[in-house]
Amino acid sequence: MHIGVITLFPQMLDALRCGGITARALERGLLQLSTWNPRDFTHNKHRRVDDRPYGGGPGMVMQVQPLRTAIQMAISVLGQDTHVIYLSPQGRRFDQNGVQTLLNYPRLLMVAGRYEGIDERLIEQDIDEEWSIGDYVLSGGELAAMVIIDALIRWLPQALGHQESATTDSFYNGLLDHPHYTRPEELAGQKVPAILLSGNHAQIARWRHKQALGKTWRRCPQLLEQLELTAEQQQLLTE
Ligand code: SAM
Repeated sequence: MHIGVITLFPQMLDALRCGGITARALERGLLQLSTWNPRDFTHNKHRRVDDRPYGGGPGMVMQVQPLRTAIQMAISVLGQDTHVIYLSPQGRRFDQNGVQTLLNYPRLLMVAGRYEGIDERLIEQDIDEEWSIGDYVLSGGELAAMVIIDALIRWLPQALGHQESATTDSFYNGLLDHPHYTRPEELAGQKVPAILLSGNHAQIARWRHKQALGKTWRRCPQLLEQLELTAEQQQLLTE
């Protein structure tokens, strides 16, 4: 997978290279990450990328020309079939279904806005889709891009140490994850559930599945409305 980001602050994306799963995936080439700065494509002396909004009002708007040229440059490197998205609080809400949707695009270009956002004509003509990471407003699209890139990386083959990790995480199969414990067995009176020390793998799987169902019911009951238990999960509940 090759992801490009159009951003005024390319150095922010370096946070993905700091450590952990994202850094390892980038080092090993499981994901290629490239950035383009619209400031490098301006035609004015001061390298300005923004101007005042028509109709008046506060803030500045990112102009079409530097962003359009940056997008065209990025597409010439990534490929003509690149899917172009604009990070925006007005876009489709990013969730686990969104992860699976975006994984279908081997070449993805993310446009990170700043100021009041980008000129609407760019959205109409150059952008395939808008995506939001939640109903709140950030100062820029870079953090949103990084959130999405991190979530995608977890699903790239060989990105996780234990490949099954992603499939037992919350939201996979429509459930929240079960609780996790590690040493010590007892901590100021708080004990690890005895079943987890039993060595009985079938019983442990059943307990974990019930815990996941219970947590989902308490915290995200809407997930249960769409849940279809697999034959294996139904078997676990009847044992
Ligand atoms: N005036 C815009 C609005 O109200 O829709 C908000 C502009 S915001 C200050 C600047 C940039 O941050 C946006 O262009 C977008 O790229 C990014 N951004 C802000 N909130 C976001 C969110 N929830 N999800 C994705 N990107 C976001």
